[in-house]
Amino acid sequence: MKKLFTLVIGFLLLTACVTAPSAPQTQPQPDSVSPTESQPTLSSAPATSDTTLYLSATLHIESKFDSWPADTESFLNFLQQTTDAGIRWSIGGDIGWLESADNAQEIVQRSAAMGAQWDNHAHSPNDLGKIASILSSWGVTPTGVVSGFLIQDFDGLQSSYSYQGYSWSPSVIWGGVVCPGHKEGCDDLSVSLYRPTSSSQFEVHDPSGKLIKLGGGSHQLADAETLAAQIAQGQHPYPVIGYTIMVEPETLRISTSATDDVNVILAFVERMNAYPFVRWTTIAETAQAWTDAGEIAFQINE
Ligand SMILES: [Zn+2]
Repeated sequence: MKKLFTLVIGFLLLTACVTAPSAPQTQPQPDSVSPTESQPTLSSAPATSDTTLYLSATLHIESKFDSWPADTESFLNFLQQTTDAGIRWSIGGDIGWLESADNAQEIVQRSAAMGAQWDNHAHSPNDLGKIASILSSWGVTPTGVVSGFLIQDFDGLQSSYSYQGYSWSPSVIWGGVVCPGHKEGCDDLSVSLYRPTSSSQFEVHDPSGKLIKLGGGSHQLADAETLAAQIAQGQHPYPVIGYTIMVEPETLRISTSATDDVNVILAFVERMNAYPFVRWTTIAETAQAWTDAGEIAFQINE
């Protein structure tokens, strides 16, 4: 993460150098002109209305049985309740669930009818084409979001994937990890939006890169609130910032939390809506908003 971060800091320092008053000893002044008259007016900190915080929400239904939604109606009720509150869901279902769960097609179709989008979540890039093809065969067009990927596989994600005549191309990547298994230190928990250069230069923004990377933070509610409070204070002056909360499909609570259930999530939505700069969008819609706003790249490492 260092290089992009350094670039951003470098830019901020450069900006500071340009706008800061010159030190008297390096800028000789004619005796007749007082320093205050010759110095440019300092620009103040950007107004908070310059930033929009796009909040998204995801869940991954894994291939292993113990991550599957325990009950179809409870799962869909959870999605409906949170959707009614304003959350826009971005969901990923891995190949084992899509192919083996009796209720997979019903969940995909009924959640899509409520406005949920289906991203492409695979633990092997070889499954991306088949997953997209299954979703499409059920009448649900997958977004261009790769929801979870190994950073070492990034270079391979530049291509398109075909399965039985259906072709799918990634445009956005979310949830990068440097090592599999969600072990300590493996997940990229930064809040970021940029176009990575390559697997080996993953943190370096390439304006002409093919894929947009959305780093959605730690996915925890408390960290989203901290980020929003910082934005309110003008701390992150970027036009578009994205953050993603994540729910476990089997527990319907925030990922790894024992307490953050639907009621806690609904209260969180209400608190976040008090900020005038907060919007609820899907992951794909957040990336689109970033493009529409001129693709100002940034990385915030908390
Ligand atoms: Zn997974």
